[in-house]
Amino acid sequence: MSSSRYLRGDLLEAIARNALKKYDPHLVIGMGVQRVPIEEIIESMGLTIEYQYIRRDGRILGETVFDDGYIPLYDMKKRKYGLFFMSRGTIIIDASLLGDKTDSRLRFTCAHELAHWLIHQELYRGSGEAAAMANNISKSSDTDRCIERQADILAGALLMPIGKVKQAFYRISGENGIEVLAKEFGVSKESMKIRLREHGLI
Ligand SMILES: [Zn+2]
Repeated sequence: MSSSRYLRGDLLEAIARNALKKYDPHLVIGMGVQRVPIEEIIESMGLTIEYQYIRRDGRILGETVFDDGYIPLYDMKKRKYGLFFMSRGTIIIDASLLGDKTDSRLRFTCAHELAHWLIHQELYRGSGEAAAMANNISKSSDTDRCIERQADILAGALLMPIGKVKQAFYRISGENGIEVLAKEFGVSKESMKIRLREHGLI
């Protein structure tokens, strides 16, 4: 199949591994776990992160700009929407995520948008549309859901390099194991559970 819509799980793992290795091999190789510095990695690729209010109701958490153009954003001061020029390679993160107690949602949104940039360019480039991470995608089409799921899987692989997860998983046991793991990697408990399940660890 030629479309990136059908990228297989092991291919997504390889894409994540390569991206991390390029930034810092220690993120995937050797002993010891360090939080993946996702914002720094994004910037090292020449992308720009912008914190803006995307929608008034916080419905959209992130948006990746594939073509230079005007993007509607909510202007908190003026209390209305405006069009803002954004260049290709801008990742817009909803400013509401900055106020979060834990930064796991912010980190996951960054990773999700980076995933779109890495694997969905051909789908969006020239379409005049931006890939967006919505809070609730239940109303989207099957194709959209598939693309979003793929970005989520790659985001998980980026934030939780599987070799390191396995290392930590066997080191940390006990009742709060998943919580401790989640904290160590800077992700939510739910994301960590999904990652462990993907690899048959739980
Ligand atoms: Zn998305």
